[in-house]
Amino acid sequence: MTEADPLRLLAVHAHPDDESSKGAATMAKYVAEGVRVMVATCTGGERGSVLNPALDRPDVWERLPEIRQEEMARARDILGVEQEFLGFVDSGLPEGDPLPPLPEGCFALVPTEEAAAPLVELIRRFKPHVITTYDERGGYPHPDHIKTHEVSVHAFEAAGDPDRYPELGEPWQPLKLYYHMSFTLPRTRALHEAILASGQESPYAEWLENWDPDRDMSHRVTTKVHCADYFAVRDAALIAHATQIDPNGRWFACPLEVQQRVWPTEDYELARSVVDSPAPEDDLFAGVRSEVVVR
Ligand SMILES: [Zn+2]
Repeated sequence: MTEADPLRLLAVHAHPDDESSKGAATMAKYVAEGVRVMVATCTGGERGSVLNPALDRPDVWERLPEIRQEEMARARDILGVEQEFLGFVDSGLPEGDPLPPLPEGCFALVPTEEAAAPLVELIRRFKPHVITTYDERGGYPHPDHIKTHEVSVHAFEAAGDPDRYPELGEPWQPLKLYYHMSFTLPRTRALHEAILASGQESPYAEWLENWDPDRDMSHRVTTKVHCADYFAVRDAALIAHATQIDPNGRWFACPLEVQQRVWPTEDYELARSVVDSPAPEDDLFAGVRSEVVVR
């Protein structure tokens, strides 16, 4: 790695705020180490709601799309990353039984070949060595998160192929693709028990009661990135998404010091790799650093 050619990480997310709740401390750590980090935000979060009671006001609802862009710019600066919107429209989270149809023109309804094109273009321009995204279930079942997974995998495979999207720039093959795996049953249980041991009330009791162990993904974790020193940066970036985060809500219910002591990592599954990097790993660039110097 030279100064002229730093390592590069691309994090693909569905909505503004997702980058601050998934992998944010990892990004802040790599920025501090001189890695260039880019966040690609697939949609503008136009169909999100106001989740902070203090901001649930008509003047906020009226300007929500612009406000979410301003919040994203603040979070970007706090994390020290670069950020681009890929220009798709939020699909919203369908609710009801039966579920209503998705709104016309939304991200989740765009065919994947077409929906992946802006990401292929960004990959060929930014030239990331490593990409992070969501697993095939979206991490959580929002149609935009599942679509984000699909376009990330599609673009990871297409960007290096000169026969695909030939109009979108010179081919670039990223070396590794990761899925976020931070919200696992063992982590939540460990935090829960530490809070109880300190004599406090745990905010996770109900979650844990309803958690179907068959849906836990912790067995898929290959990579644990130590980033506890950056949990406070992550929290500051989350708070910058003021309309989306209740500062008195569950996100902040577990004391930082407990998180740092009990679960100091953000966790990932290595989903694709074109370099040799045996699990377990503690670095998203494992196997990449030597590769990049050799080139
Ligand atoms: Zn989201």
